[in-house]
Amino acid sequence: MHELSIATKIVELVTQHLPDGSAQVLAVRLRIGALTCVHADSLRFSFKLVTEGTPMQTATLQIDTVPISIYCAICNSIETIQGIQSFRCPNCQEPSADIRSGQELDLESIELIEQESEHSLL
Ligand SMILES: [Zn+2]
Repeated sequence: MHELSIATKIVELVTQHLPDGSAQVLAVRLRIGALTCVHADSLRFSFKLVTEGTPMQTATLQIDTVPISIYCAICNSIETIQGIQSFRCPNCQEPSADIRSGQELDLESIELIEQESEHSLL
């Protein structure tokens, strides 16, 4: 049910950003961190459910997954790690709890069929 509440939130956010109620949404792009444990397929399915009968009904949900990265004080660099099994620098194996990416759950952009082709939120 986690994904269903996220999908509901996305629809609320998109609706707030629509220039007017009649605009047709072509696509909604999200950035989701690998640490959020959100399943892209479940989220797409939930999005379909909650958008039925709304201007977002035919919209595609595009999901960009953001990999997990940590800051390593030894290497003085930000390193991408493969999964949540080990929060260690891939270069020197130093453990790090300084997470720099992977927790994102952002609405990146909304594409509309009419008016501007892309309505960027950033
Ligand atoms: Zn390191």
